Amino acid sequence: MIVGVIGAGQLAKMMALAGLPLGMTFVFLDPASNACAGVAGELITGAYDDPALLRELAVRADVITFDFENVPEDSISALSDRVACLPSARALGVSQDRLREKTLFNEIGIPTAKFAPIDSLADLESAVAVIGLPAILKTRRLGYDGKGQVMLLCEEGLAAGWEAVSGAPSILEAVVPFRRELSVIAVRGRDGETRFYPLSENTHRDGILRIAASRPGDQATDEARELVSRLLDELDYVGVLALELFDTESGLVANEFAPRVHNSGHWTIEGAQTSQFENHLRAVCGLPLGDTSAVWDVVMLNIVGEVPETAAMLSVPGAHLHLYGKEARPSRKVGHVTVRSVDGVELDTAVRGLLALPGLG
Ligand code: AMP
Repeated sequence: MIVGVIGAGQLAKMMALAGLPLGMTFVFLDPASNACAGVAGELITGAYDDPALLRELAVRADVITFDFENVPEDSISALSDRVACLPSARALGVSQDRLREKTLFNEIGIPTAKFAPIDSLADLESAVAVIGLPAILKTRRLGYDGKGQVMLLCEEGLAAGWEAVSGAPSILEAVVPFRRELSVIAVRGRDGETRFYPLSENTHRDGILRIAASRPGDQATDEARELVSRLLDELDYVGVLALELFDTESGLVANEFAPRVHNSGHWTIEGAQTSQFENHLRAVCGLPLGDTSAVWDVVMLNIVGEVPETAAMLSVPGAHLHLYGKEARPSRKVGHVTVRSVDGVELDTAVRGLLALPGLG
């Protein structure tokens, strides 16, 4: 089975590392000639939306998937006539646009923060009158890791906020008073069979995920699974999907979903019977899904902006290191470390040891 992957970043790399033992081979498309998944398969270098390169990928691959969701929906719709592209163009398109995404959530009964579409400063002023302040202005497209969003605190700051998003089509969102951030990662096969991983509890700093901990048996599990099931069924989804949630006093509120493997599920590599990467490949290739249950309690810490000495990370008992092979830059995710509660490892102690290192936590 030859798997074509649009995007050759760390998610594509970890997908390939999971798929190679299953006899799969990989062809990636990425604009960067040094994209980090290139070590695990063949890399076609060029724009994500180059029609000729997408066609080449379609000819070479038995199935196409993504590690990056900002490929134009139309390019994928067109390709889907030639080769299976999974998840679907629709799932991709909905996830690219915060307005479409939150509108769909509400249509299928998934609660969200109050939101309103914003196309002008006048829209922003009227929306603030309804939603109130503080509120968050987010561009509809191309926002990630806290980029493309600005917190609005007072009426006087509205014009500056609108300038900060460069007048791009946006949404205004109420601030959700959450107790914790969770994500539910699910996988749905071509035949509709669905499995769920234990919830992840996520800690962000400056809009970037820093820590994700597995939470088997969490009290919010059933509610989260019910919500993500609605989305999977509505989209007739195939593959791994992550739904990011706020846990509030009045229940779960959805923030956004990713139609792909997700950073908050990296702990599944060492912590679950079958990793999210392997299960995504199993799903899109039409293979039986693997067991999603957790085998240990696990905490994953992202390495962001700078990489500590390898020896310092590996000297923490129970640490499993994943360096992506990317050049370190401020705010860039360049690797992660996972610690498991196995062989007498004290998770809190291990996490504290890692948090003391630069780039972690
Ligand atoms: P996003 O880019 O939408 O994933 O947001 C990144 C992070 O900003 C989230 O994980 C939250 O920590 C925070 N955030 C985003 N939207 C809201 C909201 N409506 N209320 C409170 N915090 C938010």
